[in-house]
Amino acid sequence: MSLNQLIRKIPFFNYSYVFESQKKIFVSCFEEVGSRGAFIMQKDLAAFEKNLATYTGANYAVGVANATDALEMLLNVAGIGPGDEVILCSHTMIATASAVHSNGAVPVPVEAGADHLIDPESIEKAVSPRTRALMPTQLNGRTCNMDAILEIAERHNLLVFEDSAQALGSRYKGQHAGTFGVGGCISFYPAKILGCLGDGGAILCNDKDVFQKLMLVRDHGRNPETGDIDLWGRNSRLDNLQAAFLDLQFKEYENVINRRRQIALIYQERLAGLEQLVLPPAPGSDENHFDVFQNYEIEAEHRDQLKAYLAEHGVGTLIQWGGKGVHQFKKLGFNLSLPYTEKLFERMLMIPMNMSLSDEDVHYVCDCITAFYSGK
Ligand SMILES: *Cc1c(COP(=O)(O)O)cnc(C)c1O
Repeated sequence: MSLNQLIRKIPFFNYSYVFESQKKIFVSCFEEVGSRGAFIMQKDLAAFEKNLATYTGANYAVGVANATDALEMLLNVAGIGPGDEVILCSHTMIATASAVHSNGAVPVPVEAGADHLIDPESIEKAVSPRTRALMPTQLNGRTCNMDAILEIAERHNLLVFEDSAQALGSRYKGQHAGTFGVGGCISFYPAKILGCLGDGGAILCNDKDVFQKLMLVRDHGRNPETGDIDLWGRNSRLDNLQAAFLDLQFKEYENVINRRRQIALIYQERLAGLEQLVLPPAPGSDENHFDVFQNYEIEAEHRDQLKAYLAEHGVGTLIQWGGKGVHQFKKLGFNLSLPYTEKLFERMLMIPMNMSLSDEDVHYVCDCITAFYSGK
C-alpha cells in the first residue's frame, strides 16, 4: 500500500480526549461538588476510596496527592530509613527510587527480565545484609511473577512494596496488583489508565495499623478525633474534586481495560509475524497474568529509525523514562552496570495505546510499522 495516500495524526497520548468525550458529565460533576464547597476530604473522596478497595480486594485504599508521595509515605510508615537497602527494577520511573532515597535509604536497581519487569534472579543476587525490602514495579499494566518475589522475600525476611502506579486492575493468579505486600501505590496522572484532570494517587494496603498511619500522615499527622498531632506528616491529600472525577470514570473501568486488551490483540495479530520485533505477551496468553496494557512496549530492531519513520507518518511514540534505566542516571551517584537492561533500553519503544484510538488507527500504526520493515 502507499502510506502517502493518507497520513493520519495519531498522537502517542491525547490529553484532552477523556475530558472532551465526557465533557457534560465532568462539568455537571464540577458544578455539583463546587456548589457543595466540597474540596478537601469530603464524601466523594471516601466513596472513591471505598470503591477502589472493593475493586482491588484490598482492605483499605487511601487517596493521596500522587503516586510518588504514595510510595514515600508507604515506606515511611513501614519504617524504611537510613541504613536500609531496597531492591527495585532499573526499568522503572525514577520516582520508585526517589521514594527510597527520600526516606534516607538506598535504592538498589537490578535487571529487568524478558517481560521488562524485575528479574527474580537478579533480585536474589542483590540481596545483602542491609536489604530490608523488595519493591517490584508492576510495569506497563502487568503484574510480576509474584510467587517468585514473595518466596525470595520470605526466605530473606524482607518487606514487599509494590510500585503498581501503572497497574490498576492488573492481576497475577487472580490477585490484584498492589495487594501482595505491605502496600501498593496507584497513580492517577492523566496518562495513566484511570487518569484524573491533574495529579492524583492512592495507596492500597491490608494492614489496619499501616492504613491508620497513612490516613494521618497524608494530613499533617493530625488526628481527626482529638485534633492532636500524632506523628510527623505532610499535606498529601487527594483533592475531593479529583476523587469525584475519578469515581465517575471508574464506573466504566472494565470497558476501558477491555478496549486496551482489544487494541493489544490487534497489535499482536498484525505484528507478531515481524521478526524484527519482540511484542509484549498477548492478552490471555498466560493464565497467570491478566494484563491491563497501561503501555504497549515493544522491542524493535532499528528502533530510532522506526521511531523517526512513524513520526514522519503522523504516529507518536515514546521511549519510556527518556531511554534510561534508574542506574543510568549517573548524576544521582549510581555506579553499576546492568547489561541486559541497558540493551533493552536501546530497543524499547512504546507505540500508541489509549482510548482515543479507533481500530483503523491501530491498523494504520501496524501498516506503517510493516511498511518500514519491508524496506529493510
Ligand atoms: C507514573 C508513575 C509513577 C509516579 O506517579 P505520579 O502519580 O506521577 O507521582 C511512579 N511509578 C511508575 C512506575 C509510574 O509509571
